[in-house]
Amino acid sequence: MAAIYHRVALIGLGLIASSMALAIRRRGLADEITGTARSADTRAAAVELGLCDRVYETAAEAVEGADLVVLCVPVGVMGAVAEEIAPRLAAGATLSDVGSVKQAVIAAVGPHVPEGVHFIPAHPLAGTEHSGPRAGFAELFENRWCLLVPPEGTPPEPVARLRELWEGMGAHVDTMDPAHHDLVLAVTSHAPHLIAYTMVGVADDLGRVTDSEVVKYSAAGFRDFTRIAASDPTMWRDVFLTNKAATLEILGRFTEELFALQRAIRTEDGAHLFDYFTRTRAIRRGIIEAGQDTDAPDFGRVKKAGD
Ligand code: NAP
Repeated sequence: MAAIYHRVALIGLGLIASSMALAIRRRGLADEITGTARSADTRAAAVELGLCDRVYETAAEAVEGADLVVLCVPVGVMGAVAEEIAPRLAAGATLSDVGSVKQAVIAAVGPHVPEGVHFIPAHPLAGTEHSGPRAGFAELFENRWCLLVPPEGTPPEPVARLRELWEGMGAHVDTMDPAHHDLVLAVTSHAPHLIAYTMVGVADDLGRVTDSEVVKYSAAGFRDFTRIAASDPTMWRDVFLTNKAATLEILGRFTEELFALQRAIRTEDGAHLFDYFTRTRAIRRGIIEAGQDTDAPDFGRVKKAGD
């Protein structure tokens, strides 16, 4: 595939950036990749793994001459990083990010974007519970969605070019307005993570009482919660602090539904429970039909001897 950008600068070299670097390289989507990370360890790992053509100590150096700069740091530090790189951004360049929350990133980064630079926030809906430069893999974005959130008035050409990059990495691309993005993600990702964190926390308290039975007998449902609850604490702290309104809105609704189910159990209202679970099962079927998950039992996990 022909290169879409001449020089892509990745700021932050964790799971998302390292996956982007590997996918961009594999498909030849950029002539060169530069990058930077906060710690010397991560920078050294990026060199060792060959993620970038050049790894710099500072973000300001890494963005020099780049026609695409992607902020791949936690949402809470995007504004500070944007402020640091702003004077070094090339005229006509595109500045993007991969943050999980969009309104807060736009509010923090937007004021620093110089005239003549196109700011096109993005969010790939792909990830794992692992983080850091060694966690990345080129296939991470394949068949996943990437949402672009271009501010009103952004010219179509840089948006089309960024779309082409994400499609080149295997993603499906949609555009969305930032408030809607944050609400959708509160339902599909942020609230579920909080619920997983809570459930694992509750089980841990119980574990102290029952002397590790919680871990020993951990069955599929709980194991899946523990996987989600192993996600990066910095990233998720920032997600909740910056998508506060939408997350609280969804948690409010969640609490109401939970009380209704609690009441159905107490009053032995089996019809309510059955109808509710029938509805949720249909939602699962819809996700599989949309090709967003596998229909294989236990998410296709291979059974090990003794399982
Ligand atoms: P990650 O693997 O933890 O990597 C984060 C990177 O940001 C690292 O290079 C880290 O540097 C750097 N960093 C952390 N704190 C910093 C600070 N205070 N100042 C400067 N740099 C800092 O994270 P990730 O999973 O790639 O996530 C990156 C972004 O993508 C986040 O905004 C997240 O919301 C978003 N996102 C994540 C997922 C997911 O599932 N993981 C999915 C979609 C979008 P060091 O390594 O040197 O500490």
